[in-house]
Amino acid sequence: MTIPPFTRSKIVCTIGPASEDEETLRAMVKAGMDVARINMSHGTPAEKRPVFERLREIGDTSIMIDLPGPKIRLGELDKIYTLEEGDQIHFTIQPKIGNRREMSVSYDRLPTEIRVGGHLFINDGIIDLEITGIDQDMKGFDTVVASGGEVSSRKGINAPGASLSLRPPTEKDLTGIRFGVDMDCDWFAASFVRDASDVKAVSEAVSDAGGDQPVISKIEHGDAVRNIGEIIEASDGIMVARGDLGIEIPPWDVPLLQKKIIAACNRLGKPVIVATQMLESMMHTPRATRAEASDVANALLDGADAVMLSGETAIGKYPVEAVRAMNNIGWVVQEQITHREPSKRGDLLPNVIGDLAARAVEAVEASAIIVVTRSGFSALMVSTHRPKTRILAVSKDPRVSRRMHLYWGVEPLNVPWTDDRDELIIRAVKTSIEGGYIHENDVISVVSGSTLIAPGLTTTLEILSVKDILYHAGRRD
Ligand code: PEP
Repeated sequence: MTIPPFTRSKIVCTIGPASEDEETLRAMVKAGMDVARINMSHGTPAEKRPVFERLREIGDTSIMIDLPGPKIRLGELDKIYTLEEGDQIHFTIQPKIGNRREMSVSYDRLPTEIRVGGHLFINDGIIDLEITGIDQDMKGFDTVVASGGEVSSRKGINAPGASLSLRPPTEKDLTGIRFGVDMDCDWFAASFVRDASDVKAVSEAVSDAGGDQPVISKIEHGDAVRNIGEIIEASDGIMVARGDLGIEIPPWDVPLLQKKIIAACNRLGKPVIVATQMLESMMHTPRATRAEASDVANALLDGADAVMLSGETAIGKYPVEAVRAMNNIGWVVQEQITHREPSKRGDLLPNVIGDLAARAVEAVEASAIIVVTRSGFSALMVSTHRPKTRILAVSKDPRVSRRMHLYWGVEPLNVPWTDDRDELIIRAVKTSIEGGYIHENDVISVVSGSTLIAPGLTTTLEILSVKDILYHAGRRD
């Protein structure tokens, strides 16, 4: 059997009306989706539950619950409006159906936390409003349109530079956390974090709700950029959320910042996702533009673990084609992704072993690295050094296995667990042969704990011939 093609970089897909039916989801998994992102900014937990259950039934993916965070939104409008430069609009914190002259906002402290002369942006930054006055009763404010565009109900509002007191987790975040914990999701993503204390507050809310899911921090606020080091340290992973980030800071600052964030995550051995507008044109057309293909390729070459599709798979016309295109780009560039030096976690033994495993597979031309991992950390530490082979990860806990779909190069292997280390490796090898991942004449590398010390500690790197393992397996039977 030939080894099935495996793109080592990972793909996160946002699930929405364009992709939530079973046939499309299955086709997306087949095309290369590794992580399904359920965005709690839209819809209720009751609406998301069937999609979640469908994804679990299909299997082979992680599920990430993306919490809305302190995002300010417009209220309902009686219809869609096209605003023009010079239009004057009054905003109110009173809930009401808005019209061209007056619209409501979802955040009641907004009038007290903005200033005259400041700007607000609506609809992905397209509409630019200058604040011209604040009501005396602090219940509303006046604006003039500096740059117009289309506006509809519930569009997001950005207030760059304003120091808003609204912090995560919000009430809506807590609802999303309860839902995610209840459904046993694999990851949470936290929106609009501004410093490490926001990340910790979200993690604490997850554990208060009875969960232990890792938290990905979305970098999309100017303060998060300033506090990036402490946020990466406090998080289990990072998402460069370029949509809001490019409104909160000028869009031309995003590319260099993206590179810096990826490099910082790589140094600290934390997974990093690059998100938003990666294959935007595929919302309407079945082929990616050359610029988009370059954007995805460069993010991966810079060191991103995963790339994300948003509207392309949630509401686009070509969700499966978009996943396929992203997968193809990852496949083509992966030969250029080379071994990476030890990260700042070099003091940790699994990191040293991960580094050695990545070097060893090149030196002996091994066909795979099998990692026995309890928490997934050892698999992550191998992944972070970007070995040239696939990383087949065996874990006792199926929740850990699911989580690892996000890690670059890692493919969770479904092996019946045993505490007998040698027997576990034999089972993993047999499963890998059956799956077509390795062959009898191959050499493989195995990363695991030692039988001589406390379980759970990764201390051992072995280079083994598959034939020898099978020979010993025969003698055991
Ligand atoms: C973004 O702003 O780029 C992003 C991913 O966040 P959301 O889609 O939740 O607005």
